[in-house]
Amino acid sequence: MDANRVKNVSVIGAGLMGHGLSQIFAVKGVNVTLLDVNATLLDQAIKNIKSNLTLMVKNGIGKTEDIAPAIDRIKTTLHMEEATKDADFIVEAASENLDIKQEIFKRLDELSPPETILATNTSVISITEIAESSVNQARIVGTHFWNPPYLIPLVEVIRGKGTSEKVLEDTMALMQKIGKHPVRVNKDVPGFVGNRLQHALWREAISIVENDIADAKTVDEVIKHGFGIRLPVLGPLENADLAGLDLTLAIHDYLLKHLDDSKEGASLLREKVKKGDLGFKSGKGFSKWSPDEIDKSRKNLLEYLLRWVKDNKE
Ligand code: NAD
Repeated sequence: MDANRVKNVSVIGAGLMGHGLSQIFAVKGVNVTLLDVNATLLDQAIKNIKSNLTLMVKNGIGKTEDIAPAIDRIKTTLHMEEATKDADFIVEAASENLDIKQEIFKRLDELSPPETILATNTSVISITEIAESSVNQARIVGTHFWNPPYLIPLVEVIRGKGTSEKVLEDTMALMQKIGKHPVRVNKDVPGFVGNRLQHALWREAISIVENDIADAKTVDEVIKHGFGIRLPVLGPLENADLAGLDLTLAIHDYLLKHLDDSKEGASLLREKVKKGDLGFKSGKGFSKWSPDEIDKSRKNLLEYLLRWVKDNKE
């Protein structure tokens, strides 16, 4: 697949991620076939894309006159034959379930032209396992987008055991072409890179609350008003170089034995889930959340991401 010649892309699954992925390709002039098992969700996906694009224009990203042509490039279907017949690249964003994904990839592998690249947007499932029931595993690759995929630039491009070097490189080139920031993940390990880093931080954050070192609000404040501010310009390994590796080693030799190294979710987290304290979904998690506070938090995040994209676009 030549990234410069990709004309047709199919997206499997029209939920939260699938509609956003369709939007990214359509905005870049690619024809999209969006498939789901549920027709109502397909209609909703198109409405969501229109509303995302309208909001982006309102925030200075893109032009009103480009919205209708982008929407016109997306066709929806319930039939796998239609989604596979002319596709140069297919990305799967169906429910996070190994059996569903294996069945989808088996069919994609049987029905699509042999040169079509087949990608999965799984958050945590092994790319190698997803590819297991397919014959041509060399063309199956991971493309882990982050939510909302049309605003967050990162895509982790993951090599499964059977993925060919060419498929990995072509996928990296395509992600670049559609304006994303692809990174190469050489080994198919649970959590890839981003979720391993993110959940190492969350494990320690929960442990600090569980051990009464500080409350949940304080933990978040430490990040938002402290080292979180420099993270966008200084990653942890750059920061280690800046501070000096001798100092980093001295800190690790003293500190690491005191950090949480549990191999399963914290008891505090388990208790909260058991009580039904699920966070925004139930109005209470690590903190209490009124409906207004929930709306405000979601709005804050969306406005921040829109500003970030506007400030960072070429
Ligand atoms: P979602 O539940 O919003 O959407 C899943 C869609 O898949 C639904 O519309 C469902 O009808 C459809 N579906 C189910 N079985 C199908 C089948 N056999 N064929 C076609 N469509 C089918 O889920 P989501 O949040 O969009 O997640 C999709 C994928 O992306 C998952 O693998 C998830 O782990 C991953 N992901 C999610 C996020 C996130 O923040 N939500 C971030 C990165 C990656």
